[in-house]
Amino acid sequence: MNDTFAPTPRPGPGFADLHLHTLFSDGTFSPEELAGHGARHGLVAMALTDHDTVEGCARMALACRKLGIQSIAGAELTAEQDGNEVHILGYFLDVEDTRLQVNLRQFQTVRQNRIHEMVARLNRLKIPLRAETVFALANCHSPGRPHVGRALVQEGFCGSLDEAFDRFLKKNRPAYVPKFKISALEAIALVHQAGGLASMAHPGLNRSDEIIPALAAAGLDGLECFHTKHTAAMTAYYLDIAARHHLLVTGGSDCHGFSKGKPLIGGCKLPAVYYDRLNQHYQAKAADRAPRAAVAAQSS
Ligand code: AMP
Ligand code: FE
Ligand code: FE
Ligand code: ZN
Repeated sequence: MNDTFAPTPRPGPGFADLHLHTLFSDGTFSPEELAGHGARHGLVAMALTDHDTVEGCARMALACRKLGIQSIAGAELTAEQDGNEVHILGYFLDVEDTRLQVNLRQFQTVRQNRIHEMVARLNRLKIPLRAETVFALANCHSPGRPHVGRALVQEGFCGSLDEAFDRFLKKNRPAYVPKFKISALEAIALVHQAGGLASMAHPGLNRSDEIIPALAAAGLDGLECFHTKHTAAMTAYYLDIAARHHLLVTGGSDCHGFSKGKPLIGGCKLPAVYYDRLNQHYQAKAADRAPRAAVAAQSS
C-alpha cells in the first residue's frame, strides 16, 4: 500500500463517519468538500464508500490528512443474497489491487449499460430523456438511478427527485432495471483479497437479517449498526447481533451531499471506540499478512 493510505495514530474519543459518497458515484460533494464538512462536525475519522468505485479515495486521504482527520479507503459494493439486495462495505482497501480494479470496472460497465436501458424504458413511456444528458450530469464512471432522477428533474420531466423515484425509478416502477449483482459472499471475498475488511451496510433497510449468521461464518467482519435510517432501537438490536456473531461495529451517515436536502453528515455518528477496534483488527490482520508475504517473496 502506498504512503497516501499509511495508517496514522489512534483517534481516542470522538466520532467517525464510515459511510460517505462523493461525486465519484451518486454523491454531490467532492472529496475535499466532504472532508471539510467532516472537519466542521469534528469527526476524527471518515471512510469514503462510493458505489462500486475507489476513484475518490486518494483525494479523500489527502484532504483528510490536511485537516487532521484519519481516513479509510473504502467502497460500497452492490451484492445479492437469496434474492435480496445486500450492500457490502469494503474498508482499508488496497485501491491499486488489480483484481479489485478489474471487478469494479465490470460493475461500472453494468451500471453504464443500465443507464441506457432505463432511458430506453423512459423513452417508451414517451419521456424523451437522452442517455447523453444523464451521462453528462453524472460525469463519473459509476452512474446510478439518482443521476437518472436528477436528469429527469433538470429536464423538467419531474418536479423532484422523490417524484422521479416514486413514478419511475423505484423497484416495480416502469423504468426500474435490475442490475447484475455478485453474491454477498463474492463481495466479501473480493474485499478480503484486496486486503480489506467487509461490513454489511444498513441491515435495517434490507430486511435480510436471517443471512447475517451465514455471512459471519463466511468471513464477514462487521455490521453497520449505526446508520441514518436506523432508530435507536434498531441500533441496539444490531449491536446485539454483532456481539453474538463476533462482528465489528461500523456506522455512518450514508451522506450523498445536497442531493436530498440538508447533508446527512454529522447526523449519524459512530463512537470512535468502534473505529479504533476496526482499525486495530485491520492492523493485526495486515501485520499477520506481511511476514507471510515476505516468506512467499523469498521462496519465489
Ligand atoms: P442504484 O445503485 O443505481 O440502484 O441506485 C441506488 C441509490 O439510489 C441509493 O444508493 C440511493 O443513493 C438512491 N436512492 C434509492 N432510493 C431512493 C429514493 N427513493 N429517493 C432518492 N434516492 C434514492
Ligand atoms: Fe447511493
Ligand atoms: Fe447502500
Ligand atoms: Zn451508501
